[in-house]
Amino acid sequence: MRHDVTFPLYVEVDQIYNLACPASPVHYQSDPVQTTKTSVHGAINMLGLAKRCRATIFQASTSEVYGDPEVHPQTESYWGRVNPIGLRACYDEGKRCAETLFFDYHRQHGLAIKVGRIFNTYGPHMHPNDGRVVSNFIVQALQGQDITIYGDGTQTRSFCYVSDLIEAFVRFMNTDRAITGPINLGNPGEYTMLELAETVLRLTGSRSRLIFQPLPADDPRQRRPDITVARSVLDWQPTVPLEDGLKETIAYFRSVLDQKGE
Ligand code: UDP
Ligand code: UDP
Repeated sequence: MRHDVTFPLYVEVDQIYNLACPASPVHYQSDPVQTTKTSVHGAINMLGLAKRCRATIFQASTSEVYGDPEVHPQTESYWGRVNPIGLRACYDEGKRCAETLFFDYHRQHGLAIKVGRIFNTYGPHMHPNDGRVVSNFIVQALQGQDITIYGDGTQTRSFCYVSDLIEAFVRFMNTDRAITGPINLGNPGEYTMLELAETVLRLTGSRSRLIFQPLPADDPRQRRPDITVARSVLDWQPTVPLEDGLKETIAYFRSVLDQKGE
């Protein structure tokens, strides 16, 4: 079924995974009002649906709730540092308000909620024009285009392979109803964007050059999840190292770009 979560949805379900919302900065900033609506109106509708069906509901929250963090690595107890009026606010504040709604529906209506804070994730089946860093670098490397480093490339991110993340979602969904989160879900391996670019160049065998472009506003300087809670509560930790995940992702983009080229 194709449906816009900003409108009510009447279906009969046992479990809801609410992942609705673009997650790439270029895409969520292209229609920022709709981005906030998707997170806030969407959460209200999905929580209303969960309440009526007595369904357990998982919320795809985000490391963006920590903003540009002063606490490193980020633990769930850290409240974050978000600019409420910046270009990223439609996403960050929308997701923060969604967390508020989840916890209020839990306290007020006794809903079984599962709030996961997802850190940067990548893998096959991303869109070539997704705009996030892993797919950009791979597509640029495979096409022999310049690799676009924003800022000086010393900012860091931690990248989780998609299959590891999905495993965490399913484990979390099936925990005891007393377990609400929030729980950080991500891979604690931390890399600068320069390191990522060099790894992608090496694995693709590309001779693309690195070029430096302006750093987008409010771009977080550093990000790494503390996954102590996920390890103990979900008995989960990522299993796919960055290079292995990148190889799978590169193979995927090679096949997509080959088909396009034909
Ligand atoms: N809602 C929905 N599907 C349902 C039940 C509710 O989409 O099966 C929507 C409904 O449009 C409502 C929202 O969820 O606006 C919140 O529902 P809730 O029951 O919390 O609030 P109320 O209906 O009392 O305003
Ligand atoms: N970035 C980059 N080049 C790109 C795309 C992104 O250097 O072509 C940087 C971006 O400035 C940020 C990091 O890579 O510091 C991760 O960006 P992304 O959009 O993937 O996700 P974010 O974690 O910022 O939401």
